[in-house]
Amino acid sequence: SRTRDHDDLATPIANVLHLAGEATWTEDPATVTAALKSGHRAAERILGRSIPFGDIWSPTKR
Ligand SMILES: Cc1cc2nc3c(=O)[nH]c(=O)nc-3n(C[C@H](O)[C@H](O)[C@H](O)COP(=O)(O)OP(=O)(O)OC[C@H]3O[C@@H](n4cnc5c(N)ncnc54)[C@H](O)[C@@H]3O)c2cc1C
Repeated sequence: SRTRDHDDLATPIANVLHLAGEATWTEDPATVTAALKSGHRAAERILGRSIPFGDIWSPTKR
């Protein structure tokens, strides 16, 4: 695949369907980090706000 294929997969469809997973993370695909970060990005897009990455690990901040 080409670099822009990852970007295409990461682009929300009709701003409704958000895909996550290692293949959607252009900088470092095929890693656990890519899967985690892409899920974080999709959650931020759905909620429409920034979520500090550290909050993911803190149950009291959800
Ligand atoms: C042998 C091996 C070693 C690895 N070692 C490392 C490592 O050391 N470090 C590292 O960072 N990464 C490593 N990786 C890569 C890492 O495991 C993956 O990049 C990461 O798990 C991808 O996560 P994901 O959630 O995007 O996809 P996945 O973990 O593949 O999750 C996709 C899920 O979707 C499910 N699914 C598929 N099709 C359907 C369907 N039609 N309907 C419903 N469910 C479906 C699958 O069953 C699966 O559970 C390794 C991978 C392999 C195979």
